[in-house]
Amino acid sequence: MQTSLPFKKIIIIGGGTAGWMSACYLAKMWQDYDLEIKIIESDAIGTIGVGEGTTPSIKGFFEQLGIEAKEWMLACNATYKTGIRFVNWSSDPNYKSYFHPFYSQLDEYFQHEFFQNIQLKHRGFDVHAHPDQYLLASELAQQRKAPIEPEHYPFDMAYAYHFDATLLAQFLKKKALQWNVTHQVATINEVKQKDDGSIASVVTESGETIEADFFVDCSGFRSLLLGKTLKVPYNSFADSLLNDSAVTIVTEREDTTPSMTLSTALSCGWAWRIPLTNRFGNGYVFSSRFQSPQDAEEEFRRHLALPESAQFNHLKMRVGHFAKGWEKNVLAVGLSQGFIEPLEATALHFATQSVVDFVSAVDNSTDQAGYSNQTAYNNKLSDRFSCVRDYIELHYLANSRHDTPYWKAARSHTPSRRLQRILTTWHQGKSVPRVLDEEAVSLQLFGHESWLCLLAGKGVFPESEHTIDALPTAMRIDMQKIKHFVETSAKHYPLHDDALAALKQS
Ligand SMILES: Cc1cc2nc3c(=O)[nH]c(=O)nc-3n(C[C@H](O)[C@H](O)[C@H](O)COP(=O)(O)OP(=O)(O)OC[C@H]3O[C@@H](n4cnc5c(N)ncnc54)[C@H](O)[C@@H]3O)c2cc1C
Repeated sequence: MQTSLPFKKIIIIGGGTAGWMSACYLAKMWQDYDLEIKIIESDAIGTIGVGEGTTPSIKGFFEQLGIEAKEWMLACNATYKTGIRFVNWSSDPNYKSYFHPFYSQLDEYFQHEFFQNIQLKHRGFDVHAHPDQYLLASELAQQRKAPIEPEHYPFDMAYAYHFDATLLAQFLKKKALQWNVTHQVATINEVKQKDDGSIASVVTESGETIEADFFVDCSGFRSLLLGKTLKVPYNSFADSLLNDSAVTIVTEREDTTPSMTLSTALSCGWAWRIPLTNRFGNGYVFSSRFQSPQDAEEEFRRHLALPESAQFNHLKMRVGHFAKGWEKNVLAVGLSQGFIEPLEATALHFATQSVVDFVSAVDNSTDQAGYSNQTAYNNKLSDRFSCVRDYIELHYLANSRHDTPYWKAARSHTPSRRLQRILTTWHQGKSVPRVLDEEAVSLQLFGHESWLCLLAGKGVFPESEHTIDALPTAMRIDMQKIKHFVETSAKHYPLHDDALAALKQS
C-alpha cells in the first residue's frame, strides 16, 4: 500500500465522457494527496456525442464518487434500464425477440427450471426454453416499470441507466472542477518523449509546452498518446465484428417511457432505441462493406418512419483494442484504449473499470514508482476485451437470418477457441455454466444467465422431436406457476414514469 502517491501532476487529454469520468475518479480517490490534475481538450475536435446505454457497474462508479443517482439523473435526462430487448435477430417465428435482463435475486427461484428446460430442449423435447417468461426484468420492461426495488424489499435487482452523453460530460465537468481539476482548451499537436520513450510533455497549437509525470489518454479514436505516440500494437476485431459505421438521430419521446433499450436487427446491422426523459436516442450500426452510408440512412429513416427532411449524423468506428491499456507513463481510458461495438453498451463499463483498476493497481503497488501491477493490469484488461468480444460475437454467430449477405457473413467466421468450446458444449446439450467457469469467462461482465439467455433467446436449438406429453411428469415444469410468480413479484415495482416523477419531486 502506497503512503504517498508516485505522481505529482497528471494530464488528461480529452474532454469526452471518458476524460471527465477519469478526472472525477482520480480527483476523488486521490483527494488526500498533493496531486495536480489538468484536463486538456480541443475545441476543434469534437466529442463522439453518443454512448447513452450502460451496464450496472456504472451505479457503483457513481456511488464511489459519492454522487447520488437523483442528482446526476436529473441533470442528464436519465432513465432506468432493465436490460435490452433484441428483435428480429432470429428467423424462427418462435424467437422473434428476447430480453437480455440485468439479473434479479428473484430470478434464482426458477433458474433451475430454466436451465433444466434448456437441457430438455436439446434432447428434443418441446418444452418452454425461451428466457423471457422466467425473468423479472423482462416482465418489468414489458409493463414499463422501473427496476428499483421498494425500500426494505429483501431482494436485490441489478439495473443500469440511459442518459444524454453530452449532458453527462457537462455534469462530470462541473464536479471535477469543484474537486480542483483544472481545465484548458487547447489542441495538442505535438508530443515529446523522454529517452526511455515515456511522455515528457505535450505541446499545444499555440506552442505552449505542458509537462506532467503521468498522462491519461482520453483522446477518443485518435488515441493520441497510446496509439499514435507510443505505438502500442492494435488487435483489430474487424474480422469477427463486421460493423464499422453508425448513423444516428434523436426523435420525440412517447407518452410513457420504456425502461429498456431496444436492439432491432436491420438488413446490414442493428438499430438501437434508447429512451431518455425528453427524447429517444436512435442509431443504426452497420457494416460499410455491405451497405453504403446513404443506403443505411435511407433504411434507417424508413425504419423510424421519419420524413425525407430528417437530418442524420454519421459516425465511423474502429473495433478492437490496443494490446496494452497502460504503457509507460500513459493510461488510455475510453475509445483511445479500444472499442467493441455498442451492441451491449459496454464501452463506459470499460472506461470506468479501467480507471478504477488503475487506482487500485497504483495504490497497491509494491514499488515506489507505482508500476509493480502494470503487467497484471494489462492482462486483466485484455482478458476483459476478449471475454466481452466473445459474448458480442455470439450475438452474430447465433443469428439465423438469411435475408442478406451481411447476416450470412456475420455468422460465417471461425470463433475463438473459447467461444468454439462454449458453442460445442451448448450444441451437445451439456453444461455451458461449467465451461464458462472453467474458462473464467463468468468473472467478466456477462454471467451464466446472460450466455444462456442469448443462446436460448435466439432459439439455437435442434428441432423438437418429442412432445411435452412424452416427458416424465416429474420433469414437467409448470409455466403458469412461474408466470404467476414473476407477475406477482413485478407488482412491487413502480411504473417507470412514476419513479422518474418521484425523482424530480424528491
Ligand atoms: C455508434 C456508437 C454508439 C455508442 N454507444 C454506446 C453506448 O450505448 N454505451 C456506451 O457505454 N458506450 C457507447 N459508445 C462509446 C462511447 O460513446 C464512448 O466510449 C464514450 O463517449 C467515451 O468517448 P471518449 O471520451 O473516449 O472519446 P470522445 O468523446 O471522442 O472524446 C475525445 C476527446 O479528446 C479530445 N481530443 C482529441 N484529440 C485531441 C488533441 N489532439 N488535443 C486535445 N484534445 C483532443 C477531443 O476534443 C474530445 O474532447 C458508443 C460509441 C459509438 C461510436
